Amino acid sequence: MYPNDLVKFWFKGKGHWSDVPDEKWLDWRWQMKNRLKNLNDFSQYLQLTPEEVHGLESAENRLSVAVTPYFMNLMDPIDPNCPIRKQVIPVENESQISEEELWDPVGEESSMPVESIVHRYPDRVLFLVTDRCAAYCRYCTRSRLVSNAQGYGFHPNIESGLNYVRNNTDVRDVLLSGGDPLLLSDDKLNYILTSLSEIDHVEFIRIGSRVPVFLPQRITKSLLDVFSNISNLWLSLHINHPSECTIDLKETTHKLATVGIPLGNQSVLLKGVNDNIETMKSLIHRLLMMKVKPYYLYQCDLIKGSSHLRTDVNTGIDIIRGLRGHTTGYAIPQFVIDSPNGGGKIPLSPNYASFNEDGSILLKNYSNKSYLYPAIKDPLVSIIE
Ligand SMILES: *Cc1c(COP(=O)(O)O)cnc(C)c1O
Repeated sequence: MYPNDLVKFWFKGKGHWSDVPDEKWLDWRWQMKNRLKNLNDFSQYLQLTPEEVHGLESAENRLSVAVTPYFMNLMDPIDPNCPIRKQVIPVENESQISEEELWDPVGEESSMPVESIVHRYPDRVLFLVTDRCAAYCRYCTRSRLVSNAQGYGFHPNIESGLNYVRNNTDVRDVLLSGGDPLLLSDDKLNYILTSLSEIDHVEFIRIGSRVPVFLPQRITKSLLDVFSNISNLWLSLHINHPSECTIDLKETTHKLATVGIPLGNQSVLLKGVNDNIETMKSLIHRLLMMKVKPYYLYQCDLIKGSSHLRTDVNTGIDIIRGLRGHTTGYAIPQFVIDSPNGGGKIPLSPNYASFNEDGSILLKNYSNKSYLYPAIKDPLVSIIE
């Protein structure tokens, strides 16, 4: 059906849990309650390697381990190089910390005027509303506080966050993140979103969430009702590999689009997961089919214990070069580095232009053919006799 696609089918169904009745399987609280968390749980479904066994035994003081049954079904039970496994099953290498790695890799701590707010750019803030996720990505940028495995003791203070936004009239854009905001109850989300949308200077509200990917069951009719009452709400998903694009996820994104939520995706470039052109192309084509615009591709942050997942920066640039012009322009994400020490997101692009001294520009197109864009000269003055 998809002759050009790297992954030949879209996963569907209950997989290992075919005995579980639909009313449980489709209940997000059942999925949360039945998450896999330890060696014993995972060994029922995966042929674990010694590296994974060690990782599972030693992860608890770095970042919690949890995987929903829904997401577990996407893993290859035998192949340790499975791109889904690598994202959520810890390995021994996680305890190896390299010199350049940081506790606070993108320098957020120094831009937190109140406990729940990161205010780095003049016109927009990041509002951290929880430290919990449906499943824990091993390369989490905020592993210092998410899941509280390191004893950070993060206490989201919703009121002080809302007041901060109310009192700062320059803030026109609020990004809810965490942890994953979609783990909050419908009532709590409704309260936060409604309160924000009632602030005159807030024009744009977005939620960063991986819940549709780990737990599509959470996107219930009543949550969609909450969303549809907010005048301008966008959603940024986090999908890294085409196998994560299941029938359930596609149905979920189509429902979100139907109630008027524009959808973007942020991927993290990860070694052995999505660090080649074919995988990325398959992913971004699936995203378009799901009505999701690929937004950012991130260089993996300098998180402690993440060097086994981090690629060379040139890998990202080469991937963009392999996509631009070769496929739909809408499908191309912007490759960025979220810079250490709070510099924010900085775009990196292949270089297609060289600027000549005479003001002309030598352009190279996607297939490396050269074109000259001339220097702009003053218009010729025509002399009328
Ligand atoms: C990523 C981020 C934003 C949003 O940046 P955009 O480029 O607008 O997506 C805002 N604040 C902080 C602190 C961020 O890290």
